[in-house]
Amino acid sequence: MQISDIFKQKRAVFSFEIFPPKPTAEIAAVQGTIEELSALSPDYISVTCSAGGSGNSRTAEIAALVQSCGVEPLAHVTCINSDKAAVSATLDKLAGLGIRNVLALRGDRIAGAKESEDFRHASDLVKFIRASGRDFDIAGACYPEGHPESPDLLTDIRNLKIKVDAGVTHLNTQLFYDNEDFYRFRDSIALAGIEVPVQAGIMPLVKKSHIDRTISLSGAKIPAKISRMIARFYEKPDALMEAGIAYAVDQIVDLLSAGAQGIHLYVMNNPYVARRIAESIKPILAELNGG
Ligand code: FAD
Repeated sequence: MQISDIFKQKRAVFSFEIFPPKPTAEIAAVQGTIEELSALSPDYISVTCSAGGSGNSRTAEIAALVQSCGVEPLAHVTCINSDKAAVSATLDKLAGLGIRNVLALRGDRIAGAKESEDFRHASDLVKFIRASGRDFDIAGACYPEGHPESPDLLTDIRNLKIKVDAGVTHLNTQLFYDNEDFYRFRDSIALAGIEVPVQAGIMPLVKKSHIDRTISLSGAKIPAKISRMIARFYEKPDALMEAGIAYAVDQIVDLLSAGAQGIHLYVMNNPYVARRIAESIKPILAELNGG
């Protein structure tokens, strides 16, 4: 099924994001994780890829595993270090595996890596996929606090409009911790004429290592409520786990109450966290989606 059809059927779409195991690890290393996540009946599971073209092939294998567990996969495809031939090969592989949904990304810049002459922006990739005539649903990334390379949010939204107009059918946001940023962003893109559904990206802060990485990599604003939680429980793994899950559930309930069209949970391959959150919001999703 294409994800755009899921958005037509549901008022609130719920999905997970996972990442493939390291190139040296067996694919089977994530089999159990995927089975546990699939048992929670998400609408789809997205699979990340590294910005270097080589990551895309592992993504395809993991996406196929997701599909074999009865859940729709969304395969991430990056282009910043790939030429048209490499992207075509990735798309052929995905299509050959029966995968119908891709998240078209530029990818993060890797210092020293040769950048593509074919693709400068994710919108170039979207145009390329559409022009190829392949029947993929194409999702795109967006940034409620603005992409870090953009001079300001309005410029970023103007660029986002180019990407959506090129053929994106839904957007997944970068993680954020202050819902007001999401609501402002939602209003701004509506004014810019962007009408595709937007799923809110939520990453529960449940582990010390995630906190360090998330804060340094995403550049997301950290509200005082989270700072207090981190300060108090940073060295207390059990308490941090519970506090992080509670914060994420609170954030999600507010988003769903405010009419968010979907929640995309960055679960960091942790089925326990996914299960706790999925169980907490199950009655709310059931109410919104009519049972
Ligand atoms: P773009 O849409 O190309 O935007 C990048 C920058 O270029 C922005 O500042 C934008 O304003 C500007 N821009 C865009 N179009 C134009 C234009 N036409 N003219 C001028 N400027 C323009 N990275 C990975 O490597 N692998 C992953 O699996 C992955 N998954 C992600 C999933 C989500 C939901 C999100 C939000 C991000 C993900 N990323 C991933 C990170 C992403 O690759 C980076 O944030 C990257 O820096 C930008 O990618 P993009 O597709 O948003 O780029």
